[in-house]
Amino acid sequence: MAEIIPLYLPTDSANQEPFKEGACKLHPQTMCPAFGALRVLARIEGAQPAMVTDTGCLYGLTFVTHFYAARKSIVAPALGTAELSSGKVQEAANAAIAEAAAEPHVSVIPVISLCVAETAGLAEELLPTEVDGKPVVLVRVPAYAIHSHPEAKDIALAAVMRRFIDTSATEPNTLVLVGEVFPADPLIIDGIVRKMGGRVLTTLPGRHVDELKLAGRGAAVAALHPFYRETVALLRERGVGVVSGAPIGADGSAAWIRAVGAALELDEDTVEQVAEAEEQQARDFLKTQPLKGATILISGYEGNEMLYARLLIEGGAHVPYVSTSIGTSMLTAADEAWLKAHGVETVVYRKAIEDDMQAMEHWNFDLVIGTTTLAAHAKELGIPSVYYTNILSVRPLFLSQGMIASISFIRDLIDRKPLYRQMLDFFAEE
Ligand code: SF4
Repeated sequence: MAEIIPLYLPTDSANQEPFKEGACKLHPQTMCPAFGALRVLARIEGAQPAMVTDTGCLYGLTFVTHFYAARKSIVAPALGTAELSSGKVQEAANAAIAEAAAEPHVSVIPVISLCVAETAGLAEELLPTEVDGKPVVLVRVPAYAIHSHPEAKDIALAAVMRRFIDTSATEPNTLVLVGEVFPADPLIIDGIVRKMGGRVLTTLPGRHVDELKLAGRGAAVAALHPFYRETVALLRERGVGVVSGAPIGADGSAAWIRAVGAALELDEDTVEQVAEAEEQQARDFLKTQPLKGATILISGYEGNEMLYARLLIEGGAHVPYVSTSIGTSMLTAADEAWLKAHGVETVVYRKAIEDDMQAMEHWNFDLVIGTTTLAAHAKELGIPSVYYTNILSVRPLFLSQGMIASISFIRDLIDRKPLYRQMLDFFAEE
């Protein structure tokens, strides 16, 4: 393992003023929130999204949806100044729904109402609830009300769940996972839950309406990501236990396993044995403190940044600053408290690039895991940096297996520091 070479003199934090967030939080700096809703809805088999918005929004959102491999087109009315000023939004929405219903192999039509339609006053009671036997579900995600794309995922999921959820029975000892996670993670979690006598029933957001129905039969729900507030509230209405937080790192995994055991009312001794074995495996790996000596910045708009920060800290890193696009809630409270108790000085919700840039001035980082803009800025300074979304979301994260995979990868990134120094020197000589 290579030694961590600081590029700058370390900051003397004792002589430093505390970090202060300065950026305006009125205007969220995130991709159009509707993207999150589209991502969830377009993936549902048989769903044909109809989007009610103006041409500009449609152009951008169609592009980004195809970029993320939705493999289906969005049906939308042509809404320009003429249609808006003549009050034709409702007729245009109904025509788009009829067009969506006529597409082949369609079984459900989510109607995504965005800024323009919402401000023009799209009325839910004037929309059909189904066309030709195909359910129509209204999903309202204007950016002035839903401030980030993760939170729009939650609104979209809750809207379709509300329509399809089956609460006629409960399947004992079953757990519903909520979070758009790396595909191996639910399998790893299921393996652990089965060792305790339970099982994972389904993982939301699902890819089929049947999964949304099934979620209503779970005996407990685990909110792996902290922004699925509406979805969790919907499941909680049935009186099922909610496990917040995720099986992250040594501390988090053991606590999460015990919480799941309690929520599913599993055998306490078996649960304790599984929790201890999992914790031991994680601690054996963490003994070497693979990230010791590194100061890392975490910034993203995915909504799960605090989980990664926890992992890095358990790996030995100093993580003084974490920022995320989502807002604070009961589901973020435990992770924030853990982070603050483990050396994190600042957690910024509804982040802005100005906050992140200011943090770059305030601390000296060995690695920046951030948005594309921030990562580019860090590279200009010769600091190893990666784009949060594409780099971290493609690896398992949970339990000891996920932890070992993610921390080993971060260690490799930090070891690339001499390459960044060479790059700076090369361009300095030009
Ligand atoms: S106007 Fe609203 S819906 Fe359209 S792209 Fe902007 S934020 Fe998204």
